[in-house]
Amino acid sequence: MAVEHKPTAVVHRGTKGGKTGCGTDTREHSSHWVSTSKSITCGKNGCS
Ligand SMILES: [Zn+2]
Repeated sequence: MAVEHKPTAVVHRGTKGGKTGCGTDTREHSSHWVSTSKSITCGKNGCS
């Protein structure tokens, strides 16, 4: 599963409502996050 951070257009590993692979909580500013089937573009530890 992947989740996109709309303001930056970066796609992270994870699901909306949980934490991304790199540790960001998608419940904070939840309107910024959408579930996606795009490939992950975040290069941080845990997502890449
Ligand atoms: Zn990430």
